[in-house]
Amino acid sequence: MATNRAIQISKHGGTEVLELNRIPVPTPGPGQVLIKTAYAGVNYIDTYYRTGLYPIALPFNLGSEGAGTVESVGVGVTKFKSGDHVVHMATGSYADFLAVPEKSVAHVPNDLPLDQAAAILIQGLTALTMLRESYEVKRGDTILVHAAAGGTGLILVQLAKALGAMVIATASSQEKLDIAKAHGADYLVNYSHGEEQWVKEVLGHTKDGQGVEAVYDGVGKTTFEGDLKVLRKKGSLVSFGNASGAVDPFKINRLGDKNLKLLRPRLFGYIGKDCSPLPAPRIPKPISSLANDRSMQQDTQEVFDYYCGELFKYVKAGQVKINIHKVYSLEDIAQAQKDLEGRGTTGKLLIKL
Ligand code: NDP
Repeated sequence: MATNRAIQISKHGGTEVLELNRIPVPTPGPGQVLIKTAYAGVNYIDTYYRTGLYPIALPFNLGSEGAGTVESVGVGVTKFKSGDHVVHMATGSYADFLAVPEKSVAHVPNDLPLDQAAAILIQGLTALTMLRESYEVKRGDTILVHAAAGGTGLILVQLAKALGAMVIATASSQEKLDIAKAHGADYLVNYSHGEEQWVKEVLGHTKDGQGVEAVYDGVGKTTFEGDLKVLRKKGSLVSFGNASGAVDPFKINRLGDKNLKLLRPRLFGYIGKDCSPLPAPRIPKPISSLANDRSMQQDTQEVFDYYCGELFKYVKAGQVKINIHKVYSLEDIAQAQKDLEGRGTTGKLLIKL
């Protein structure tokens, strides 16, 4: 039986629980596409699965996205054929081969190299859906983006600028702030000097010190309280991650002080994720203004295609530049995760298969 390399965990813990194992090369089932991985993206969510912050059944194949070439397709797949360049959002992507439901696969534009495609997918789709659906940024809004030199942060900054917002960017060093500025951030705040200081600086960059329309926060625990202080009346807090740990329990009546909105969105709630071996039911829908169509089926290939198409358009137009921090080998997965968790990175980390 043909085998391929995959990163698995059979218990939770630090990077020492990461195992490089050989598993059978999957056969694509009905509605599935077998992809030969070229690059897999390294994402914070993989570290949450590893540590147990996000519950999963063990053993577990790690990796959440990748780019590669279609090797073969299962019964009923018409959109993809052998040799196509594709991206996918499916669990188990730290592997040479992966069978993925076709609804989680999209074509890569001809002129986009596979490393760039892998580098933009999850973080780009996260940034795009948060700016469109969690709090819809409007021209002239002033927003705050935390960890703005990170993978998701840099894309949030660029997309928010493309959508006409003023962007206040935070990061933990001047070097990172300079990178955020080079990607369009209007105001820079080093948030490592304590909450009182960064809150004051952020408010100082807003009209009459009234606060920002929205905060996009992937840092979580350490910034949450300050976020409530820098929001203007009726502002929105989009708390979408836990890089510093999960946000502590919170009494919702505190939102009433300024009639704030609090969201804790996940990309997979906007763009369905399904790794089951069964093909997902297909419900054809018109694509027009899909993002704003309240009745849209969240879990369809049309939604995935729609957002991938939007994202690739911003890339092609030069409005979103893709930043690859470093490319690691599969054997170096532990180092890649350590680097991501260690705050030493900017932009995207990739695994080359
Ligand atoms: P990043 O590249 O942004 O790396 C995380 C950054 O967070 C660090 O570089 C660091 O920047 C900052 N940070 C602040 N405090 C800490 C800390 N205590 N430990 C480590 N890092 C810290 O990662 P990603 O772009 O991959 O992910 C960013 C966030 O987005 C994560 O929380 C992730 O879970 C979330 N996310 C959520 C999704 C969703 O669907 N909700 C989807 C994708 C990502 P600095 O040094 O400047 O502080």
